[in-house]
Amino acid sequence: MPETFKNYVAGQWIDCRSRKTFDHVNPANNGEIVGRFQASGAEDVHAACDAAERAWPQWAQVPAPKRGEYLFKAADLLEQRLAKLAEDMTREEGKTLPESKAEVKRAISIFRYYAGEGARMFSYQIPSERESVFAYTLRKPLGVFGLVTPWNFPSAIPAWQLAPALVAGDTVVLKPASQAPLSAWRLVEALHEAGIPAGVLNLVTGSGTTAGNALADHPAVRGISFTGSNTVGNKLYDKLAAKRLRIQLEMGGKNPTIVLKDADIDNAVEILVNGAFFSTGQKCTSCSRAIIEQPIYDKLMEKLIARTRKLRVGNGMEAGVDVGPAVSEHQLETDLKYIELARKEGAELVCGGRRITGGQYDKGYFVEPTIFTGVKPEMRIAQEEVFGPVLAVLVADSFAEAMQVANKAKFGLSASIVTRDLSRAHEFINTIEAGLIVVNLPTAGVEYQLPFGGTKASSFGQREQGPTALDFYTETRTVYMRY
Ligand code: NAP
Repeated sequence: MPETFKNYVAGQWIDCRSRKTFDHVNPANNGEIVGRFQASGAEDVHAACDAAERAWPQWAQVPAPKRGEYLFKAADLLEQRLAKLAEDMTREEGKTLPESKAEVKRAISIFRYYAGEGARMFSYQIPSERESVFAYTLRKPLGVFGLVTPWNFPSAIPAWQLAPALVAGDTVVLKPASQAPLSAWRLVEALHEAGIPAGVLNLVTGSGTTAGNALADHPAVRGISFTGSNTVGNKLYDKLAAKRLRIQLEMGGKNPTIVLKDADIDNAVEILVNGAFFSTGQKCTSCSRAIIEQPIYDKLMEKLIARTRKLRVGNGMEAGVDVGPAVSEHQLETDLKYIELARKEGAELVCGGRRITGGQYDKGYFVEPTIFTGVKPEMRIAQEEVFGPVLAVLVADSFAEAMQVANKAKFGLSASIVTRDLSRAHEFINTIEAGLIVVNLPTAGVEYQLPFGGTKASSFGQREQGPTALDFYTETRTVYMRY
C-alpha cells in the first residue's frame, strides 16, 4: 500500500474535500508508486488561501530575523534527512542520486541564505535635498503569494520561491507539480516540524488546471511566482495582469553553447555533455544548441560523439548511471517526436535517437542521448524547447555568425561560450541575449546567492534568487522625516 501524503492547510495535515487522490509513479520503474497525493479542487486551494490570509497580519509583525529562524531550523532537519530526501527525489523525478543529493543540498543552502537575509533585508538611506530631513526606504510584505512549481527541480525551485517569501513576511500557498510533489512536501514537513506558525505556509497538491488555476482566482492573493511552460505561464499572466497583481514567470529555454576555434576541445566536450545530457536534458538551463566554429568542427564532433556514447543511461538509483529516464511517458513521447521531426527537417542523426528497451528499461521512459548535426538555425529543432537529452549542432564560419545564430531564438534564458580569447568573451557577454551568461562553463549550474532569470520569452518579472528575490515579495515604502 503506497504512503498517502496529505495537504497542509492552517498548520494541519488534511485530506482534500473530495477525498480523491492520485498516484505518482517512478519514471524509472512504473511498477513502483512513489506516493498517493491529494487531488485537490478549487475549494481546497481557496481554504488554503483563507488560512494564509488569516495568518498574514501576525506573521508580518514578526521581526524578520525571527522569521529566518524557522528556515534555519528546517534546514538542519533537511540536512539530517539528506540521504532519504535524495532517494525520494530520484524515485519521483528520475534524476541520478548524486544529482538529487546536490539538489537537496542546494535547497538547504537556499533556506540558510534567506534565513540570513532576514537579518539583512537591506533598504536605502538616501540624502534629502532639504535641511534636517532624514529620508530612507522600508521593505514591506504584501500578503498572500501563490507559488506554482515544475517537476524538474522539485526541491530547489519550491525552496527558492518560498524561502524569500516567508522571510519577507508574506504567507504562501504552494502548488507543486503533479509529476514530482513529494520533494516539495518534504520541505513543508520540515518547516512544520520547525514550528512555523499555522497558516503561514500551506501546501495543496492536485492538477494545475484545477488547483493551480484556482490560486489566480482567490481575492487575497497578491501575486504568483510561476516556473513552468510558456503556455501555462502566459495564461496566468493574462489573468493576473487584468487584476494588476504581481507575477513572476520563469519558463522555457533553447540555450546555446558557442565553441570558438581557440577552445580547449576536451574541455568543450565536457561542457557540452554536461549541459546537454545531465539531468536527462530536463533543466530549463540545459544546452540544446551547440554552435561550433568551423576550423575545430570535425575534431570536436569526433570526441563529442565518442564521449556521449559512453554515457550510461538507467535507473538513477544505480551507481554509475549518468543519465536517468524522461520524467513521464508524455515527456518521452515529446523527446521522440522531436527526434523524428529533426530527421524529417533534414538534420543528420549522428548519435542516439531511440527509446531504450529490453529488461528493466521496459519499465521506464529511457531515451538515448541524441545528437543531430547539419542543423540550420530556422529548423524547429533549433528553435523549440525539447526538454530532453537532444543536442542540435550548428556550424558557424566566424564568431560574428555564431553570435547571430545564438541570438536567433525567441528564448533567452542561459548561454555559454568556450574560448580562451578574452576579447571574444567580453563581446559575447555584451551582446548575447540571455539572462544567465556563462564563460567556459556549461549553460546549466547556477548558484543560489546570485540573481536568476532569463530575457525574451524565457522570463517575465523580477529576478529570483540572490538578494534581488526579495524585491518581488516586498513593496518599497519611502519615509521623509523632519527632525
Ligand atoms: P507546466 O506544465 O507549465 O507546469 C508547471 C506548473 O504549473 C505545475 O505545477 C502544473 O501543475 C501547473 N499548471 C499546469 N496548468 C496550470 C494552469 N492552467 N494554471 C496554473 N497552474 C498550472 O511545466 P512543467 O512541464 O512542469 O515544467 C517544464 C517546463 O518548465 C519547461 O518548459 C521548462 O523550461 C520550464 N522550467 C523553467 C525554469 C526556469 O527557471 N526558467 C525552471 C524549470 C522549468 P501540474 O503538474 O499538476 O500540471
